[in-house]
Amino acid sequence: MSRPIHAEIRLAAFGRNYAVAKRAAPGSRVLAVVKANAYGHGIARVARALPQADGFATLELDGAVRLREQGFAKEILLLEGFFEAGELPVLAHHRIATSVHCEEQLRMLEVNPPPAPVDCYLKINTGMNRLGFMPEAAIPALERLQACGAARSITLMTHFATADGPEGVHEAMNRFEAATRGVSLPRSLANSAAILAHPRTHAETVRLGIALYGATPFADRSAESLGLAPAMTLRSRLISVQDIGPGEHVGYGATFFAPHAMRIGVVACGYADGYPRHAPNGTPVLVDGVRTVTAGRVSMDMITVDLTPVPAARIGSPVVLWGEGLPIDEVAAHAGTVGYELMCALAPRVPVVEVA
Ligand SMILES: *Cc1c(COP(=O)(O)O)cnc(C)c1O
Repeated sequence: MSRPIHAEIRLAAFGRNYAVAKRAAPGSRVLAVVKANAYGHGIARVARALPQADGFATLELDGAVRLREQGFAKEILLLEGFFEAGELPVLAHHRIATSVHCEEQLRMLEVNPPPAPVDCYLKINTGMNRLGFMPEAAIPALERLQACGAARSITLMTHFATADGPEGVHEAMNRFEAATRGVSLPRSLANSAAILAHPRTHAETVRLGIALYGATPFADRSAESLGLAPAMTLRSRLISVQDIGPGEHVGYGATFFAPHAMRIGVVACGYADGYPRHAPNGTPVLVDGVRTVTAGRVSMDMITVDLTPVPAARIGSPVVLWGEGLPIDEVAAHAGTVGYELMCALAPRVPVVEVA
């Protein structure tokens, strides 16, 4: 028998979560964001499970090309666009759309135009201050893009820094609208948080990331309350049980002391599987379907859990680290991070099992 850990991917969750976004933004095309190997879920798997997607958005050119080769015929967008002019013929050949976010990309389109025009998303910086033209540079950039003949279509794009928080999108929308006043082109603005919370951002095309995978983009609203179902469940089993006396400590660094005699379960899952090493004592875990908590430091291949609420647990008892029955967002919050990071960090050594 092999090590009992695996990530279970529930294929039906993608369609269900996609439908939640469609209902929230009924007039918009919904691009499914599949960067970082579909947030750890497998880009080819998500594409297969989601033929109804209006399109896909990713960062990695090879993943985009593979989607085409798999037969996906609708839109594919590169969120960071191209990095060198040599990629432009590939974009043209496979009809892959590109974001155009900087002067250097514009110049490459002017100097080394692709063999056929490509679909362009002109990205405007409305306050994130990572990618995009400053608002006052947006119209000159648009005019150059229109003049160079390399754009088959142009969509205006921005990305919100605070769509998930109390600041919202008001300031960014004001900047976007001021920067593009009088321009009548399609727009793509919303990420998951804006899809679910800010209808005024929906426009022609939205970009659905984290919610597609069944986690929440918000700190204060659960995935379940949004109608989202987890696609990934990280499952393992107990591989050892220790009965320890009061005052005994558990794990590296002796960070947990038993207040009384207790049973400790050892789970085949550690930070080398993608479980966050920062998860402190008290991070929730399901053993035999019963909620309990970690006790002791996360190590490379194992975590240790308090079996007090599950007296019948023994070697082989099933464990859920996150997913069905235990929201990834809760585990992430304990570890001081977000569900995004845990999904993306799922380690290659963890086998993936698909379920319907
Ligand atoms: C990752 C990304 C998204 C998706 O964001 P979520 O919060 O996961 O929905 C949308 N747009 C851009 C530009 C991105 O990089």
